[in-house]
Amino acid sequence: MRKKIVAGNWKMNKTAQEAFVLATEVAELVKSSVSADVQVIMSTPALYLTGVNQVIEGIPNLAVAAQNCHEKASGAYTGEISAPMLASAGVQYVILGHSERRQYFAETNEQLAAKTDAALANGLTPLFCCGESLETREGADFLGHVAQQLTESLFHLSAEEFSKVVIAYEPIWAIGTGLTASSDQAQEMHAFLRAHIAKKYGQSVADSISILYGGSCNAKNAKELFACPDVDGGLIGGASLVAADFITIATSY
Ligand code: PEP
Repeated sequence: MRKKIVAGNWKMNKTAQEAFVLATEVAELVKSSVSADVQVIMSTPALYLTGVNQVIEGIPNLAVAAQNCHEKASGAYTGEISAPMLASAGVQYVILGHSERRQYFAETNEQLAAKTDAALANGLTPLFCCGESLETREGADFLGHVAQQLTESLFHLSAEEFSKVVIAYEPIWAIGTGLTASSDQAQEMHAFLRAHIAKKYGQSVADSISILYGGSCNAKNAKELFACPDVDGGLIGGASLVAADFITIATSY
């Protein structure tokens, strides 16, 4: 059985006070409404990770994620946060390779390989994002493009290491645009990526990896997307900023 995961990516939103209110509302709703076999994650701005962790203490299926980490453990990298720092602060998950990090901060597949290594070496679970632009989707080999992101950033890992990674397929043309991949488009990519993983690591590893869908997933379309056999949950941007919407998504299985 693959783990079902619904992760909210708050991005650069919410004041400290608003973050506390949202985290508290989500915590209450997870306790009252979300099935214990669904792992819910809030990826908050780094500044709020420890505070939100206190709010959610004792709720086994609720955790926080960082939105990024540096590949080095420490040093003169002003403004950055390392994987050992996150781990020492009680953070369990880290989003890596979000398309906004790739686009605005020029993160490459090679750098993401190093960040993945840093995360795993410190016991963090990477939520590794991949996905194609609209231009690539309209070209010949959009499936191959996304597979290559996995190959170049993850396929140096041992099977044991790779098994700890969560993949999030996020078509860039669907992020924050209101355009969602259809369930057929999502299923096609997820099944393709699982087959790609199986070729490298074998079918049982491929079958154990959670592959989340992200891109304008919301309270209305989550049920249809999550019904796809290879979709194991979602990475949710905008809709994770309202507790009731986020929890409707987390209960959409
Ligand atoms: C995201 O940023 O990961 C995302 C999926 O955003 P949205 O849900 O707003 O499209």
